[in-house]
Amino acid sequence: MQCDKCSAEAVMHAAYSGLHLCADHFTRSVEKRVRRRIREDGLVPDDATPEDPATWVIGLSGGKDSVVLTQILHDTFAMDPRIELVALSIHEGIEGYRDKSLDACEALTASLDIRHETVSYAEEFGVRMDDVAEDDPENMAPCAYCGVFRRDLLSRYAEAFDADLMLTGHNLDDEAETALMNFLEGDVEQIAKHFDASLGPLDERTEQDHHVPRAKPLRDVPEKEVALYAQLEDLPAHITECPHAEEAFRGEIQRLMLDLEEDHPGTRHSIMSGYEELAALAADAYGGGRQSYGECERCGAPTARDICRKCALVEALEEPE
Ligand SMILES: [Zn+2]
Ligand SMILES: [Zn+2]
Repeated sequence: MQCDKCSAEAVMHAAYSGLHLCADHFTRSVEKRVRRRIREDGLVPDDATPEDPATWVIGLSGGKDSVVLTQILHDTFAMDPRIELVALSIHEGIEGYRDKSLDACEALTASLDIRHETVSYAEEFGVRMDDVAEDDPENMAPCAYCGVFRRDLLSRYAEAFDADLMLTGHNLDDEAETALMNFLEGDVEQIAKHFDASLGPLDERTEQDHHVPRAKPLRDVPEKEVALYAQLEDLPAHITECPHAEEAFRGEIQRLMLDLEEDHPGTRHSIMSGYEELAALAADAYGGGRQSYGECERCGAPTARDICRKCALVEALEEPE
């Protein structure tokens, strides 16, 4: 099959757009979508200057999503002195898995000459995910602890680095799955929070439960295309799944979404465009009346309770019943 834009051989076919693209036109189309998203979400602040640049912290796990995001942000802003990139990696204490992906992070940031920082659950919380998975006092899936700890560290270090923005590599599939999960759970406040925390134009978001705003510039790019981009550009991404991964509900939604997309190409895109519109309305409605956040008695993080979720989990892990 031939590329729809030139005479080269096509390397991919996107059912949702009908396009066949060669390697060159495909990689350019991914980059174009990421740059358009950065523009449309208004991520580059008007007052950023070469003398006083904006600091963007990228959550870099070493998986294909965050590696592709880091590469494209570097290619976009390396010659633009208004933006300074910092890559932040987290070691969860998962033997074998995380060490290999940190090698990928090191290789990438060294080749791009980006500042790279690594923080660990062991140093920050005295917790390793391998131990949590074995002895689970709250009886949750390991991913639930890990998500809380990861969000805490990303927020805290984004603040410590005086970041203007915290960027993560969530792709279209991730976001459409989260949207569908929030719908199915019927939790409109959660939908409002998701919007405030990471979706839509920065200046349209209302009150947030963390200080550094989030952005997901890869969220228009399907997972398969992120993987193909990493492969074609020969990026040092680490592919293996986390050995503790077992988010049962998300797994079901993933399978459902693959089937829907197969039978009705474009489903993920239409879920997201509807979801963002609804989420903006919900955020508006909740923004005025939502309870304001106080500070955690232990760590000072913003929380609606006395003690934040992260501190409660660390405590539960320290004193198993
Ligand atoms: Zn082409
Ligand atoms: Zn706390």
